[in-house]
Parts: sequence; C-alpha cells; structure tokens
Amino acid sequence: MKMSKVEVVKTKRKVLEKNEEIVKENKNFLKNHGIKAIEFLGGPGSGKTWLINVLVKKLKDEYNLAYIGGDIAGQHDAELISKLDVPAIQINTGGMCHLQGFHFRDALKKLNPDENTDLIIVENVGNLICPFQLKIGSDKRVVLIDPNEGKEKFEKYPTAFLNSDLIVISKIDLLPALDVTLDEMLEGAEKANPKLQVVPTSAKTGEGLEELINILGL
Ligand code: MG
Ligand code: ZN
Repeated sequence: MKMSKVEVVKTKRKVLEKNEEIVKENKNFLKNHGIKAIEFLGGPGSGKTWLINVLVKKLKDEYNLAYIGGDIAGQHDAELISKLDVPAIQINTGGMCHLQGFHFRDALKKLNPDENTDLIIVENVGNLICPFQLKIGSDKRVVLIDPNEGKEKFEKYPTAFLNSDLIVISKIDLLPALDVTLDEMLEGAEKANPKLQVVPTSAKTGEGLEELINILGL
C-alpha cells in the first residue's frame, strides 16, 4: 500500500482594504507630529516586554517616549512600563490576536501628542502569524525570537520574517542550557530572510542592546 503523502494547505488571508487606509492615516499622523514608531512583534513569551523594559530605561532620558501595548486582556505590560515614568497605553483587543490600524490610531489619539512625544514603542499581541499580515503604520517592525522556541520557527512562520525589518534573537544568556546554538539560530534567520540584519540580545546581561539601538537609528 502506498503511504499517503502529507499535504500542505496554503491559505491566504484576505487583507482588509480599510486597514490599508488607516495605516496611511497613521503614517501621516506620525510624520506630521515628528514621531518615530518602533514596533516589536513575536510569539508569546519571546521576551518583547522584557526587552522593551530595558530599552525604555536606556532611552527615556533622551526621548519623550511613550509605550503602546496590545494584549487580548489585562494591562500587565503597560503597568510595568508605566513604572518607568513613561506614558503607557494598553490596548485590549478582546479576542483579536493582533493589532490593526484602528487600534494604533485610537491609541495615538489617546496619547495626546502635544506633549512632544517623539518616540513610540509599540508591542503587538504575542503571535507569529496575523500581526505580520496586517500592518498598523509603524516605521519599523522588529521580530523577536527566543532560542528556546527552536530554530524551526524560522521555517514554520515565514511571513513573520519576510514582513519585518529586523530580527532580534532574544534571551541569548539562556543558550548554554539549550540544545540549539547561536550559529544555528543565525543560520535559520539567514534562510528565512537573507536581507535582514540579525541582532542577538540579552535583556538580562544587556548584550546586543547598544547594537540594536544603533541599528534602529535611535
Ligand atoms: Mg508582553
Ligand atoms: Zn490575529
């Protein structure tokens, strides 16, 4: 008997035209107010909030910084960042597993940009799938991957790495305890998108953070 072959079904998500319109509005808003918006994306537990926390500490004296975080429920992350004395807005998406243009637009309105905000750090919902198909209008998208997630993530979630501007390998301090090496992670990233720069970081030891800040032009 012939073994049945595993079939891969590729589905294409229909992009909402309406979202594209709002993305344009958001980009204009940022430009008109002289605000730079850096967006961090990645799976749940990839270390987004932790990395943002240390970046905010490094950047908050130099910039009028604000944080906008998306989560399905709760306000844990915004509370954490607001302890650093920066305005923090939590967007609760209800059941939605990604941020969309309108979430970002509403949060921007709430922020009141008259207060000279010049840098916004956005944390998308922890998810490696749809946040990469629907933009919000940020200037740069940084995708995080924790080595503990495994190097196969690069192959399994191609759109995440094709629709980002920079790859951050997080938590590299954990590598000695894992079965994967930094070289293997870098190789995975290279295969997923050879055009992107890759920054290995540790929010714990501070490794890679200055490089990340430089690459982001901050
Ligand atoms: Mg978070
Ligand atoms: Zn979603």
